[in-house]
Amino acid sequence: MKIIMLGAPGAGKGTQAKKIAAKYQVPHISTGDIFRANIKNGTELGKKAKTYMDQGLLVPDELVVDLVVDRVNQEDCRNGYVLDGFPRTIPQAEALDKALASLGQKMDYAIDVEVPDENIVTRMGGRRACAGCGATYHLVYAPAKEEGICDTCGKELVLRDDDKPETVQKRLNVYHEQTQPLIDYYTQAGILRKVDGTVDIEDVFREITKILGE
Ligand code: ADP
Ligand code: AMP
Repeated sequence: MKIIMLGAPGAGKGTQAKKIAAKYQVPHISTGDIFRANIKNGTELGKKAKTYMDQGLLVPDELVVDLVVDRVNQEDCRNGYVLDGFPRTIPQAEALDKALASLGQKMDYAIDVEVPDENIVTRMGGRRACAGCGATYHLVYAPAKEEGICDTCGKELVLRDDDKPETVQKRLNVYHEQTQPLIDYYTQAGILRKVDGTVDIEDVFREITKILGE
């Protein structure tokens, strides 16, 4: 099962992608997580990506596409995967389709997690990420057992640099301009499915399992 998560930044793509990965036993591939890991490890890719990420801009397509194509060709992806944060532009989607077509494959579902812009600002302001393992929490909607400490690895929870209010609006604008056109793209491909992302995390997941099957 090959799945793409679509939706604005902060819509809950990562939250749902992790649950899908656990239930359907497929890898969760988050390009944002890959870039953050590269930044943490001080790689060349990380240094390049950080200049765009900190400004709320997309990293150029040529730095993203090969990375994802290589990743989905790895052995653990043979039964499928869930892509979170990729594709984010039409050229990325076309490059993915082309790479899959050359292997006689195609994506099965693009799930659009719908959340209006007003809710996004609260979502991202309250998001906290673990500085150690990258797990995601929300101060109100998905709190850690002990405030500021990761349930899984015990490290500190931080506000992502790009979740600061001045960057959030910019990221939303970038989403509307460059990523939203993918909704038409995947509608035309016949694989778009929409879920209401404003309800509780478990209710969103229930809708997704209705689409993907139990
Ligand atoms: P994305 O991957 O789309 O950027 P996240 O999955 O990181 O978004 O979710 C953004 C924030 O909103 C996180 O703090 C997360 O805990 C919280 N969140 C996710 N889904 C919901 C939901 N259905 N209701 C309330 N808060 C949510
Ligand atoms: P995310 O964790 O998905 O919110 O991504 C964080 C940031 O990483 C984005 O704001 C972009 O700067 C960058 N990024 C992640 N995925 C992509 C992508 N597919 N294309 C371009 N930039 C990306």
